[in-house]
Amino acid sequence: MKSIDQAPLKNKKVLVRVDYNVPQDENLQVTSTTRIKRTLDTVNKITNDGGIAILMSHLGRPKGEVNDTFSLKHILPAVSETLGKPVVFLGDVLDANILEKINRLQPGDVGLLENLRFHKEEEKGDVEFAKAIAKLGDIYVNDAFGTAHREHASTATVARLFPGNAYAGYLLYSEVQSLKRVLEEKKSPFTAIIGGSKVSTKINILKNLLNKVDNLIIGGGMRYTFLYTMGFTYGDSLFEEEMVPVAKEILEQAKKQGVTIYLSLDSLCADRFAEDANTLYTQDQNIPAGWMGMDIGKKSIELFRKIIMESKTILWNGPVGVFEMDKFAVGTKAVAEAIAESTKNGAYSLIGGGDSIAALGKFGLSKEVSYISTGGGAMLEYLEGIELPGIKALEEA
Ligand code: AMP
Repeated sequence: MKSIDQAPLKNKKVLVRVDYNVPQDENLQVTSTTRIKRTLDTVNKITNDGGIAILMSHLGRPKGEVNDTFSLKHILPAVSETLGKPVVFLGDVLDANILEKINRLQPGDVGLLENLRFHKEEEKGDVEFAKAIAKLGDIYVNDAFGTAHREHASTATVARLFPGNAYAGYLLYSEVQSLKRVLEEKKSPFTAIIGGSKVSTKINILKNLLNKVDNLIIGGGMRYTFLYTMGFTYGDSLFEEEMVPVAKEILEQAKKQGVTIYLSLDSLCADRFAEDANTLYTQDQNIPAGWMGMDIGKKSIELFRKIIMESKTILWNGPVGVFEMDKFAVGTKAVAEAIAESTKNGAYSLIGGGDSIAALGKFGLSKEVSYISTGGGAMLEYLEGIELPGIKALEEA
């Protein structure tokens, strides 16, 4: 995969797939410009090198039909402000006068195309639609890691229409490099901390990680299904009966592969799912009837901290407790602090998933880790070991 650093950009029309699927309020005003900010380096590189940046994205789910609510013209002011320069709204890819509008742009200019998902061909990865997109530029850059797991016209098909001329933007490139550094070029010991509410959503990640890690810490609500298979009681904690065979299989497979799985040694419990619930600290791995495990206890914190501090590579996805409630955020905070400290000591740490990122922010530690992946679904699929169509297309182009 070639980085944009290798692209000859001067006087070139550069088609850039970005992920500007930004949150909006009821008046369609953008409420967070994070996704736009993350493309700033790529856009600046193009304009500073004398290229023309033609940005394209999807927004929401217009389901293949033109729908003003999902028009990118509503986000144009936020895009211009965040990029720090006027951005020209170019209209739809298939408009009769689209080439004329693009040809009016000068080196250093930035344009924004209409929502690609106004055409059902986009999500189908349609070749003819990709050809229509390809006609608009000389070079293709993909900087939308968040949609790299989609085989869409603008994320995958179009890359193949630019043989030798398809590049990764800085955001996509750094996302892939950091995931590779963790999963493929890792230094041992490698510890993954996987938390969250359900085993069912993390099965494939857990299975794939067994081939990569030395230590696997399983936290969050999902740990009670594992503890049950080991003979402990779960009380009123989150529990997935149908996941019991899978949990058993993962524990057995780990043993075979020499991976050490750590579940909590103790728990902080609540008598109901609320901030002001009564609490009970359990000394062991059993949860009594009438109580639900909400956070890891102090013995677990001590153990997890020790493992994290001894690790050279760390992957964290999913909180170990209900961190949104301060009373049950202690374990997640301790994990975040241990990762930050271990990073300071030279470990490489990758954090991903909305909740873990929010937790890092809540504890003021966002700058203390090596890399924060904002890839969402794309990152999860990468962790599952799935080849992402957007990345594959760039590698093959
Ligand atoms: P997920 O969406 O599956 O990644 O799970 C994230 C959610 O898991 C967060 O909102 C946490 O509050 C929640 N969570 C973490 N630990 C527990 C627990 N012990 N019981 C219930 N929910 C939990």
